[in-house]
Amino acid sequence: MTGEHRIVVLGAGYAGLAAAGRLASRARGARITVVDARADFVERVRLHQRAAGQEIPRWDIREALEHKKVHFVRARVRDIDVVGGLVLLDDVAESDAPAHPAALEYDTLVYALGSRRDTGVPGAAEYALSVATPEDAATLTVGRGTVAVVGGGATGIELAAELAESHPDSRVLLLSSEEPAGWMSERARRYVRGALERLGVEIMSGAKVAEVLATGVRLVDGTIVDAETTIWTTGFGVPDLARRAGLAVDGHGRVRTDATLRSLSHPNTYAAGDSAVVAGPGDRELRMACATALPTGKYTADAIATRLRGREPREFHFRYVAQCLSLGRGDGLIQFLKADDTPARTVLTGRTGAWVKERIVRGAGWAAKP
Ligand SMILES: Cc1cc2nc3c(=O)[nH]c(=O)nc-3n(C[C@H](O)[C@H](O)[C@H](O)COP(=O)(O)OP(=O)(O)OC[C@H]3O[C@@H](n4cnc5c(N)ncnc54)[C@H](O)[C@@H]3O)c2cc1C
Repeated sequence: MTGEHRIVVLGAGYAGLAAAGRLASRARGARITVVDARADFVERVRLHQRAAGQEIPRWDIREALEHKKVHFVRARVRDIDVVGGLVLLDDVAESDAPAHPAALEYDTLVYALGSRRDTGVPGAAEYALSVATPEDAATLTVGRGTVAVVGGGATGIELAAELAESHPDSRVLLLSSEEPAGWMSERARRYVRGALERLGVEIMSGAKVAEVLATGVRLVDGTIVDAETTIWTTGFGVPDLARRAGLAVDGHGRVRTDATLRSLSHPNTYAAGDSAVVAGPGDRELRMACATALPTGKYTADAIATRLRGREPREFHFRYVAQCLSLGRGDGLIQFLKADDTPARTVLTGRTGAWVKERIVRGAGWAAKP
C-alpha cells in the first residue's frame, strides 16, 4: 500500500462511522476522510424517543474521528464525479464549520449516505411529519388532539407506543395496511397489539392511506380519518446522488454491490448501510437497519484494507439474530430470528424485553463511535 491512498467515506451514520473507525486501525498509511453535513452523531434508532420529548445521546463527530486520526469535513455532498474520482462539496447552511475544500479527491470511495423520510403518497411531503432524521424528530410537536401514526412497521409501532405513553391526553391512532408487526411470529404480534392497547393506542389495521390531508388522511376506500397531526413512518427513501453520479443503482437509488460490497459499476467504490443493496441470507436483500449498517460498514473497511495489501477479501456474510422493539420505556419485545430474517419461536417481552432492547441500542451507539 502506498502512503498516499485516499479513502473518502460519505456519511457519518452507523455505516460510515463503523467503516471509518475500522479503516483507521486496518488501513494504516491511508488518508481517511469522512464527510457529513451534520456536526453531531445522533442515535437515529432513538428518534421516536426524541419525538416524544426525551433527550437522546449525541456526540461530536469531528472530535471522535480526530481522536483516531481520521479527517472530518463538515459539508454537504453535492455531486460525485466517478470518472475523475472527485466528491463535490457545498457548505452547510447556518453552520460555523471550518472552511472546507470545494472538492475532495479519492482513490477509494465508501458510499454510506443512509436514508431519510420517504415522501410516500400525495400530501405526505406537505402535511405529514416524520421521525426519519434528527432534524425531522426535533421539529415534531404533538398537541392534545388526534395523532395519526401511519405505518405498522417497527418505526410506527415504537413511535405510537412512545407518544401514547408520554402524551396521555392525546389520542394516538396507528394506521396500518396490515396487522402491526405482521412479519413477526403469532405470539410477538399478539404481544405488540396487547402492549399498544394497554398504552391506549387505537389500532386501525387494513387501513391503507391514499392521501395525507391538512386535517388527517384519506384511505383507499375513501374513508376520511381526522387527525390534528399525521406522522408518516412507512419506509425510508435514499439520496439520489449515486444515481445522478452514474453508479449502478436499484429502482430506489441504492448502490448495487457485489459479494464484497463493491459497486457493480465502479470497483473503486464500496457501499454500506441503508443506501446500499446488499445480498443477504435466503437470497433476500438486507433490510435497512442499524443492525445491517454496522456490519456492512465494518466489512467494507476490511475489504478495502485487504485489497490494499494485495489480497482478495472473503465474501460478505450476514445472519440475522433478533429484532427488538421498544413499547414505551418499561416494555419491549425481542423477536429472535432465523438467519434469513424469518421469525424463530423465542420471544422476550415486558421489562426483560425493554432491558435487552436498551442494551442493544446502547451497544450500537458504542459500536458506531470510532
Ligand atoms: C425512529 C427510528 C428507529 C429505528 N430503530 C431501529 C432499530 O431498533 N433497529 C435497527 O436495526 N434499525 C433501526 N432504525 C433504522 C436505522 O436507524 C437505520 O437503518 C440506520 O441509521 C442506517 O444507518 P446508515 O449509516 O446507513 O445511515 P444514516 O444513519 O442515515 O446516516 C447517513 C449519514 O449520511 C449523511 N448524509 C446524507 N446525505 C448527505 C449529503 N448529501 N451530504 C453530507 N452528508 C449526508 C447524514 O447526515 C447521516 O449522518 C430506526 C430508524 C428510525 C428512524
